[in-house]
Amino acid sequence: MTNIAFIALGSNMGDREEYLMSAIGYIHQLKGTVVEKISSIYETDPVGYTEQDQFLNMVIQISTDLTAFMLLGELQTIEETLNRKRVVKWGPRTLDLDILLFNHENIETEQLIVPHPRMHERAFVLIPLAELQNDLCIPTIEKPIYAIIEQLHDKEGVRIWKQKSGVDVFALLGN
Ligand code: ATP
Ligand code: CA
Ligand code: CA
Repeated sequence: MTNIAFIALGSNMGDREEYLMSAIGYIHQLKGTVVEKISSIYETDPVGYTEQDQFLNMVIQISTDLTAFMLLGELQTIEETLNRKRVVKWGPRTLDLDILLFNHENIETEQLIVPHPRMHERAFVLIPLAELQNDLCIPTIEKPIYAIIEQLHDKEGVRIWKQKSGVDVFALLGN
């Protein structure tokens, strides 16, 4: 069965765009997996641990035959391959890949929580996600995304950095 998942990507070290694009390339190469949609790239002020450089953030939609747990494992391998270093919690990193949604499933384990437990309070996640599907409802939250975004405070910290262009996506994935 094909699953639909949304993944948040973030980078604030080195060639940030290159890390995001390489990650998307690797994800597209995963077994039984197709990158269906990608958002624009946003530049965002760091949240939580604020003494660090700005992030580039984006969200992609994939279809995959992998289970949510297999997908998490593959994403962690990609993070390692792309040289992620983790020093401070919520601190600088070359690449962060989070599973936001997996079908409409609720998963609560030590390793994996879906929907991502902090996604509904993060403008840097919800704004690119809304670009892909504005009326999407997060399981466990009654409101559609656009209604949640309206109530967020840190929206100014999320600025479009590179507008999505359909041409870019397909050039990137080579098909
Ligand atoms: P945040 O989760 O607040 O965005 P973070 O991305 O910096 O913080 P990490 O250090 O990347 O956190 O991940 C810590 C752990 O979170 C991972 O080892 C992973 O097992 C777990 N995790 C739980 N739910 C998810 C999810 N939906 N997507 C990715 N990792 C998750
Ligand atoms: Ca994260
Ligand atoms: Ca993470």
